[in-house]
Amino acid sequence: MNSLALSFTLGLTAALANILGGWLIVQGEWGRRNLKYFIALGSGFMLATVLLEMVPEGMRLGGEWALVLVLAGYLLVHFFEHTLSAHLHFGEETHPEEMLERRVGYTAVLGLLIHTFFDGAAIASGFIVSTWLGAVIFAAVFLHKVPDGFTVASVMLASGHGPRKAMGAAILMGVTTLVGVGVMWLLRAEVAYGLLLSAGVTFYVAASDLIPEVNREPGILMPVWVFVGVGLMLALRLLSPF
Ligand SMILES: [Zn+2]
Ligand SMILES: [Zn+2]
Repeated sequence: MNSLALSFTLGLTAALANILGGWLIVQGEWGRRNLKYFIALGSGFMLATVLLEMVPEGMRLGGEWALVLVLAGYLLVHFFEHTLSAHLHFGEETHPEEMLERRVGYTAVLGLLIHTFFDGAAIASGFIVSTWLGAVIFAAVFLHKVPDGFTVASVMLASGHGPRKAMGAAILMGVTTLVGVGVMWLLRAEVAYGLLLSAGVTFYVAASDLIPEVNREPGILMPVWVFVGVGLMLALRLLSPF
């Protein structure tokens, strides 16, 4: 399979994980209990992928503006998820009092859709550079896609929408992921910019969306799973044939 087909196939897999995440919250308990493991494992894996793979490769390709673009990607998510949107955090939305205005729910969804666009752009930019980079970025994206879908569906439910609209929002996240893959392939000459911006986005999601949720959990088990995520990424890197 060539890299274009591979990035769309894996982009679709990631999109389906968004929908699975939405379905888990609409359906009930299993997701609520187990989501936190994905959040902790995913955040560690993502941090290692950003700092050891995406940023170094982007700096090699992108020259002196590289870290400016990483910062821009980070701030872009901060703006759409937490400045434009009045209330958004990962995991289950349990503060309906914050959601009395439906607008709060919609702006949270918009913030999440900007982020999922870059999930797709990240996967494609990886495959445009190399199969290894594409594969490791896919793993980093995939590990947090279930929490993404879970979050968006719970925001919709908490802001007074029904399960159909909650599922609709999770499906829309999958769609924007695929749009991100497509746009990155159309702009593949600018892969350095895409890779660096999405490194900043992924860094934000890992360090500023997911880690705070890990730290909210009582005890040390959840923080330990972050190290497992980092270890998993390092093991893949050592074992990779590429
Ligand atoms: Zn809340
Ligand atoms: Zn995401």
